[in-house]
Formats: sequence, structure tokens, C-alpha cells
Amino acid sequence: MHVVSLCDAFEHSDKQSPSSSAMAISFSTASLVAVGVAIFFAQVARQPPAPLATFEEVRPSLYRLNYSWRILPVIPSMPVATWLVESSTLMSPKSWILIDAGTDVTANQEAILQGIKSKLSSAGGSLKLILCESPQFVSETMCSQESLLQTCQEWLAKHHLVCAAVTHGHADHVGALPKLLDAYPDVKVAYHKNEEPFISGGAQYTDLEGDTWVFNLARKALPPLNTTLISSNEAIKLDGSSGDVAEYAKWMSKDILLYHAVPGHTPGMVAFYHKPTKSVVAADSFMQISAWFPFSNAMKIGPGIPLRLGTQSLSRAKESQQKLTRISDATTYFASHDSLVGASAESFKKFVSSW
Ligand SMILES: [Zn+2]
Repeated sequence: MHVVSLCDAFEHSDKQSPSSSAMAISFSTASLVAVGVAIFFAQVARQPPAPLATFEEVRPSLYRLNYSWRILPVIPSMPVATWLVESSTLMSPKSWILIDAGTDVTANQEAILQGIKSKLSSAGGSLKLILCESPQFVSETMCSQESLLQTCQEWLAKHHLVCAAVTHGHADHVGALPKLLDAYPDVKVAYHKNEEPFISGGAQYTDLEGDTWVFNLARKALPPLNTTLISSNEAIKLDGSSGDVAEYAKWMSKDILLYHAVPGHTPGMVAFYHKPTKSVVAADSFMQISAWFPFSNAMKIGPGIPLRLGTQSLSRAKESQQKLTRISDATTYFASHDSLVGASAESFKKFVSSW
């Protein structure tokens, strides 16, 4: 009887044929790939967490509600921000400014409304101005506390003095606009005149020729990025390169919200500068998201280019970034899609000069 010793067994194992070694290697490679693919799809399939109905203070008097949103089922979710600005030291009575209306996802809408209600009931005051960041709502409403909607409607029934300002018409910024306009039928919409074709003229961003192959491919493959058509009746059309929103909304104090035309991501996008906190709400001028996103150009989270998928002119976007760096006293730049809490002026300028 032949007895195989332990040493024999090891020796035998060392003498495996090259083909069996190759098979073992390819098997382990295949396993790793399979695990990687499984993790990727598990990540992708995971629903974005339900948004917290909480505005967190990111700067004195500046609050952010961040939630997750998914462009397409196969793309990881991305953060979308909505802002509340307290202007009690500048306006009397205490007033709040909401920047950005968010998406048309019901859970997000409810979280934003709940967050506003919660903040106002704990801190007092009233909602004076609603600015929906891309489409920005500027509504002179005096609504607050118990029921934001009901109170606003009651106030509007008496005053009929409402307007909405729109920075650009992408769905993640204007998605809630129809619902809000249903609730506030007298609202006036304000936007830069260069954005008018996409806000009220029926033009599609996907009709535009871009300056990157990614955008030009995406515009043929994706549905239109703007889904909301707003009546231009009584619209307020912001004009020129820069200005003060108060020039168009006489009930506002001056030097609170300045606007800057920042074309590139879309032809008529507008960024806002909240002067009291020296904060630039930069809309989609830049993004702070991770390399999870296709073509994001960001290998780590930090100031990065706006996603090529939805950016019509990357070269103009850079010019607009350079313009924003020239706001001399700005200390922080906040992107609409931001996994961090804004970018310092130093890091933003360093990024802009690096590409
Ligand atoms: Zn956008």
C-alpha cells in the first residue's frame, strides 16, 4: 500500500500544472470581479436614505437641509441642498429666506416643508422670501408656525404679492415648482432672461450642442433635463451680469442677496451671494461630490467641475467660476451638490486655477 506523507502531499501541490495555476488565478479574479459587481449593484440599488427634516446651521444664520437624490436608477444618489437664511438682524420683523425648492420627489418635498416648519417654530419669525435655488422662488410671504401652507395661503389671499426667482431649470432645482405654484397661484417667477427659453419658452437643454462629448452623448440618450414649464406671465427677468435682487423686489432690503449670472452649466444660470454671511450659493457652478459619479473628475471629495452629463458648456462654466472668485469678500462657496459643508474661498480659488 502506498502511503502519501504530508511532505509528499505538499510537494505534490507545488507541482501543479501551469494550467491549473492559471485556472486558480482566473477563478479568484472572477470571484473578485463578481464580488465587486455585486457590491456596485447593491450600492446602486440601495434607495437614498429618507431625508432628515432638519436644517443644520452651517454658518451663523445660514442653514442647510441636505438630502439624497438619484438622477437615474443606475447612477448612485447624489446630495442636493436646500437653504434657509435667517435675516433677523437685517430685516424687521424676523424673516427667513429659503433657497432652492428641491426635486419633485415627494419625500424630499415633505422633508423640506417639515424642516422649514420646525425651524420657524423653534426660532420664531416668518418666511419672508422663498428662493428656489435653481429656479428660485422669491415670495414675499409672511407665513410661519403652525401650518406653513395654510398660513401662506391666507397671507397671499390678502396680499397677492409674491414672486419666484429661478436660477436654472434643471429638474432637481425646479421639480417642486409646479406644486408650489399650485399652492401659491399668485407667485411671480424671476429668472435670468437668458434662461427664459428653458423656463417658459418650451426649449429643452437637450436641444443644445455642448462642448464636451459626454454632454453631446447624454443629450441624445437622456430625457430632457428640464421638466417644468412655467408661465412667463408677470415674470421678473433678472438682467445683466450682476445685480441686487432688491432692485426687482422693492420690499427687500438692499445688500442681502446679490445675483451673478454664471452661464455654462446652463445658458442662464444665476448664483447668489448672501452678503451678511459672505457666502456664495453657487448653484451648479461647481460640485463637491465623489468619484462615484461618472465623469465627475473628482478622485476625492472637494471642489470639482459640474457634471459633464448636464453641463452644456464646460468652458463657459470655468469662466463663471473665475467670475465668482472675484467676489472679493466671499469666504465660503456652497454648491448645490455637496457632500461636505461648502468650500473655503482658498480651496475654491485653488481648484478654479488648477484646471
Ligand atoms: Zn443643474
